[in-house]
Amino acid sequence: MEKLPEKAKTYHLSVFGCQMNERDAEIIAGYLEERGYKETGDPQKADLMILNTCAVRQKAEEKVYGKLGKLKKFKEDNPDMLIVVAGCMPQQEEVGKKIKSRYPYVDMVIGTHNLSRFPELLDRALGEKETVLDIWEGEGPVVEGLPLYRRSKLKAWVNITYGCNNFCSYCIVPYVRGRERSRQVKDIVAEIEELAGKGFVEVTLLGQNVNSYGRDLQDGTSFAGLLLALEEVEGIGRFRYMTSHPRDFTPHLVEIIRDAEKVCEHFHLPVQAGSNGILKKMNRGYTREHYRDLVHKVRREIPGASITTDFIVGFPGETEADFQETLDLVREIRFDAAFTFIYSPRRGTPAANMPGQVKQQVKKERIYRLIEEQNAISLEINRGLLGQKMEVLVEGESKNAGGELTGRTRTHKVVNFQGSRDLIGQFVEVTVKEAQTWSLTGQL
Ligand code: SF4
Repeated sequence: MEKLPEKAKTYHLSVFGCQMNERDAEIIAGYLEERGYKETGDPQKADLMILNTCAVRQKAEEKVYGKLGKLKKFKEDNPDMLIVVAGCMPQQEEVGKKIKSRYPYVDMVIGTHNLSRFPELLDRALGEKETVLDIWEGEGPVVEGLPLYRRSKLKAWVNITYGCNNFCSYCIVPYVRGRERSRQVKDIVAEIEELAGKGFVEVTLLGQNVNSYGRDLQDGTSFAGLLLALEEVEGIGRFRYMTSHPRDFTPHLVEIIRDAEKVCEHFHLPVQAGSNGILKKMNRGYTREHYRDLVHKVRREIPGASITTDFIVGFPGETEADFQETLDLVREIRFDAAFTFIYSPRRGTPAANMPGQVKQQVKKERIYRLIEEQNAISLEINRGLLGQKMEVLVEGESKNAGGELTGRTRTHKVVNFQGSRDLIGQFVEVTVKEAQTWSLTGQL
């Protein structure tokens, strides 16, 4: 009798936090797919359960601990299941130890700097009863050529830097992701040429501060130079980048983007606060006047560009007058959209011990006021687009009922419209017919 093929092992990946973590998850998935594992949407049935964790906010950490609690039951039902904790959380020394002692059924704990050791550690975890814990304090050199498993076939993220040198006073990233390391231009170009060959049409360049790309290489490499090199790659229609730092976004770079055909006219410039006193305490390295000048430069050089931002509300010492300055800035700049966050103290960062911690109730009340102000502006700006024709990359079917397609403009606005599924993956022209706060409805 013919022997049935052995059932493929399955994995389930839960990813928390930012695009960096999503990108690392693609590497983990790449290793596993190489070994014949297949992804499953059902965590209870997975042979391998991986949590790729985030340390930026307390809430994200609590979610991971909650999930680890639930996994205990899964493991009791299926003792062969392997549980892996990866990402930023274990990079904090006490967290790695806590996981090992309080959740002894976790099989492997790996940090952010040693992802290239994933297969080797997995082999050890498969053979050992004790939790395999491997966390590197130092970042080590950039490792090229890691396998990757990308879910999208149209849009790809490509790292250009790892780590961060900025030490904003509220942020844990430099402690868990290490100092900034840039990839070589040739390696980035080669990766993107390969993506173009596989049919990808949009690439987002990733780094904690893309504007300081190349500084550590000390050979004149710069973000502007990288964008110029990427303009030459055939087959990619759009480049995006995140995240920018307003301090390092030079007027020269704005001009390069103005003249580049493929770099999108969307500027995500996280301002975080409108008060110079708070910006100083945050160690952001710019003033609201500098920020305003940068936005004016963008709007002067690239009319129609969209500008989005991030805000942190309730930073230690933020008074009502400081918060009013944030609201004033929102009214003055008129952002297309803003991501708003309540300040959450992170152990080990300077801001966590600053005097004047703001009460949660006050933070909540402020964030509601900020969102209300911003939403009204977003809607007004979107209404101003009615009747305009926009280039849209068709990304797939919309979640809305009615079989609509969905895509994004170069300015990063979501547009839903009726059309044939054959258009997925193509650039089309759509006329804006209706405007909502977070999206547009259009017609081909
Ligand atoms: S720039 Fe500031 S907020 Fe961004 S990752 Fe670096 S330290 Fe954190």
